[in-house]
Amino acid sequence: MKEAMFYEKLDEGKVKCNLCPWNCVIDEGDRGVCGVRENRDGILYSLSYDNVSSTNLDPIEKKPLFNFAPGTRTYSICTPGCNWKCKYCQNWQLSQGDLGGRSISPEKIVEGAKSSGASGISYTYTEPTIFYELAYDTAKIAHENGLYNTFVTNGFINPEPVREIAPYLDGVTVDFKGSGNEDFLKEFAGVPTVEPIYTSIKEYFEAGVHVEITDLIVPRVGDSMESTEDLIDWISEGPGVDTPLHFLRFYPAYRVKDIPPTPVETLMEAKELAESKGMNYVYLGNVPGENSTRCPNCGHEIITRRMSRTVAVNLDDGRCPNCGDPVNVAGLNWTSG
Ligand code: SF4
Repeated sequence: MKEAMFYEKLDEGKVKCNLCPWNCVIDEGDRGVCGVRENRDGILYSLSYDNVSSTNLDPIEKKPLFNFAPGTRTYSICTPGCNWKCKYCQNWQLSQGDLGGRSISPEKIVEGAKSSGASGISYTYTEPTIFYELAYDTAKIAHENGLYNTFVTNGFINPEPVREIAPYLDGVTVDFKGSGNEDFLKEFAGVPTVEPIYTSIKEYFEAGVHVEITDLIVPRVGDSMESTEDLIDWISEGPGVDTPLHFLRFYPAYRVKDIPPTPVETLMEAKELAESKGMNYVYLGNVPGENSTRCPNCGHEIITRRMSRTVAVNLDDGRCPNCGDPVNVAGLNWTSG
């Protein structure tokens, strides 16, 4: 347990948490929406700090981060809790589980990452915003030890915490669901408003963090091509057409078992739409087959990938070896350990 960052004390022993856009006002003895920040005697504590529920070694491509440190392995950690309540959560045993994980200090997490042969650490599986203090302390030590740090996040975080951790973050994947359609997110994820997600993406970009965007397409309820087009337009006009974009296939899980997996044709339609609007790096997730990266200028294959595994990186000092154009692939100073 550690005193939380980003909160203020109010009258009558209440506190206001300013970490995420819920901005919960919490009475003494109560917890915020995420279930892991508790007001004890007028002080807000992060209960996540001593509750690491999973550690695992993954390919960085599994996050998914395709244009960042390709071919490396990342030490993935999480704690229970989430500030969203997705009815279809693929990791619901972790995100909605009780506290009761292991107490692992930031130093020990970094040691574990280094001894596993990982090139970096990913704060993932559940929402890293809600275990911010653990991620923040760990990320600082990880950088001192030459490891990268990446967030796999729903982007539901306030600007100030983004700015504070950004110097220690190297890559971020922001997970949209249903292309950010507000009605869908309200009903299926309990999200009060989507605007803060766009704001946090801008903050990550402005801070110089490599950003990729994913969009889980859920058949029947979250597969509107109009919403997908809106998301593509927002990306291309804001962060830009070089932002990697992943369309993910939905599989029934948790409380949504009556919706079938996303048809591959729907995902292809989204990919073709994004490419027709000039997006340069568009991928499909949870779909078998080739998923390589090509130079936007000449079409030369610059990263060869089979599903989520990089098998070859063909770059010349960050440029296409065929035409010499620069490409948006970050973190090339980290190679597989
Ligand atoms: S991090 Fe948790 S306690 Fe803080 S505002 Fe968000 S949901 Fe509420």
